[in-house]
Amino acid sequence: MSFDVLIRGGTVVTPSGSRQADVAVQGSRIAAVEAAIPVESAGRVVDATGLLVLPGVIDVHTHTRIASDAEPDRFFQDSVAAAYGGTTTFLSFNNPGTGISVAAQGRLRDGVAEWLDRTVGDSAIDYGLSAVITAQQASPEADLAWAVEQGVSTFKAFMVFDFGVDEAALGRLLAGTASLGALLEIHCEDRAMLERGIAAQMAARRTAPRHHADSRPPEVEASGTERAIALAARARAPMYAVHVSCGDAVATIRAAKVRGEAVFAETCPHFLALDSRVYEGTDDEAMRYVISPPLRSRHDVDALWTGLADGTLDVVATDHVPDRLAVEKRYTGQPFTEISNGAPGIETLLAIVYSEGVAKGRITLERMVDVLSTTPARLFGMPSKGVIEVGKDADLVLFDPSAARIIRAADLHHTSDYTPYEGMAVRGAVRHVLLRGQDVIRSGEFVGRRGFGRYQERSIVSR
Ligand code: MN
Ligand code: MN
Repeated sequence: MSFDVLIRGGTVVTPSGSRQADVAVQGSRIAAVEAAIPVESAGRVVDATGLLVLPGVIDVHTHTRIASDAEPDRFFQDSVAAAYGGTTTFLSFNNPGTGISVAAQGRLRDGVAEWLDRTVGDSAIDYGLSAVITAQQASPEADLAWAVEQGVSTFKAFMVFDFGVDEAALGRLLAGTASLGALLEIHCEDRAMLERGIAAQMAARRTAPRHHADSRPPEVEASGTERAIALAARARAPMYAVHVSCGDAVATIRAAKVRGEAVFAETCPHFLALDSRVYEGTDDEAMRYVISPPLRSRHDVDALWTGLADGTLDVVATDHVPDRLAVEKRYTGQPFTEISNGAPGIETLLAIVYSEGVAKGRITLERMVDVLSTTPARLFGMPSKGVIEVGKDADLVLFDPSAARIIRAADLHHTSDYTPYEGMAVRGAVRHVLLRGQDVIRSGEFVGRRGFGRYQERSIVSR
């Protein structure tokens, strides 16, 4: 026998096309992708008849929380949830609120070192760090090269929030990351416009959760995106806009790409599946959708799908924040500015993009694989991942496109206790997941183990 595992009879999907093929795995890697590989050649056969064989999803935007004394299982548990959803690799940020100590927040180097130390042996799936750069860190530029040596080749800075950086710092960080072959991710919102927007809501006593969205309308994001793109062009640096939510920002990014600038962009499942009508409910309902940027109009949702289909948007990732209703999302009548921003999503990425995108005819299956796996692997420096080809890691998802189900928080495994998609009917279901050739999900159940996930020392990439 020459192969360990043979995945037989499925439809293998790559960005360039789909075809009936068997996939043979030897050790941790894909050893063959061919029609009709003899079953005798493999130690174990997995029947994929009627199923899609997809590369494992790579979720590059999560705020998973590292283990603490009070909650020792939360990082592991979210990694298990990701596996249930077909994600085999995730990247996390180490911003304040994710469990990083106050002491480690003062220097980029300390924040990276502590995060790496406190996540060792804890994840069920492969994982990595995109380090957050804040205004509170002393000379973060000086630590960039060291972080890249630790396999942290992407960084994130915010234009808003108390830990956001000003435009002069952003320009220096763009130049610094570009000189190393690293990539700066930017949370794009216009700080001055946002401050005016919040002040206007407060002055009008519009403090309920739904007014969070009124305080940061699309023009705040579009203006921030435009300014970030201009800074990147001046620094001759690539940049990556996180969580693009509106048509105006898509148009700005499209124009930069037409000019030939190395501007990359991501959107998130909640912007693709939900819209601002959620803010019409009760305060307790609206609070679940206090996310920045907020949910937008149907017109914006359509513009995001168009942007994904035409290549303006490169990636879909979750912006997973494992807030819980009884803890971070409790509404006690305080103004919306005091409510935690974010919503859980680590388990529902593939479900939403497949069902809302592919099953509804808005993007092709091949494009879905590109934005969930192939492009994330390329942009974020993971050359062994992201596509089903000989020699790549055997990170594989067997997906049943004919299944139908209802998303319920009660059925999910993440550390949060709600889902923004409660009650939503979706097409498709994850049946089986392999990570580096080992079963992690089998017949829809977790069979992996804590610590099997490997830290990804990510490489620098020419973009
Ligand atoms: Mn953000
Ligand atoms: Mn985020």
